[in-house]
Amino acid sequence: MGLRQKDAFSRGLVAANRLEDADFSFFVFFPGMLFGEVEKWWDGAGQRPTPHEGIDICCFRTRSGDIKMIGSSALIVCPFSRARVIAFMDDFIGKTIVLRPVDDEWEDFYFFFAHLLPEKGIRIGDGISEGKSFARIAPGSGLKGAPAHVHVSVARKKDLPDDSRISWPLLTGPFRHALLDPMEFFNFPGAGLS
Ligand SMILES: [Zn+2]
Repeated sequence: MGLRQKDAFSRGLVAANRLEDADFSFFVFFPGMLFGEVEKWWDGAGQRPTPHEGIDICCFRTRSGDIKMIGSSALIVCPFSRARVIAFMDDFIGKTIVLRPVDDEWEDFYFFFAHLLPEKGIRIGDGISEGKSFARIAPGSGLKGAPAHVHVSVARKKDLPDDSRISWPLLTGPFRHALLDPMEFFNFPGAGLS
């Protein structure tokens, strides 16, 4: 796997949203934010109805030790040299954009970026290059719901339904076995638990 690419998503988030100016040190993952975990990380406590389908990126630690949220409207940028837009799906906060890397060692995989508002004019079949923004984080789902964040899932294309049928009900139901741990593909330098 290309080490060069593994921190591209993290680097892109930091650069596009000028998190260095907000005293960014590293992303923080609370229990429930990682793949397969069963806790809800928002609204105090409670369990997810099913194990987490991917990873959630929401919070970072500042150099002075505070926790900050990246917040709604943060830009999400393409972490692959090139990618194609495969599908859009509804999710419980906003939209999910499915990207497939092009001419890449990861071209057999689909990457799901969820809880977003896609950039205007972006369409299925469009190509996106590294560092280009394709969406913003959608506002959170209210007082008791999840705060604004980006969720990432990964699956191998051959294990998924046809592109036109891809949906969260299928991914969380009969195709759940297709989901892989996104941390096999992405790393977040310095990331820690709270
Ligand atoms: Zn999530």
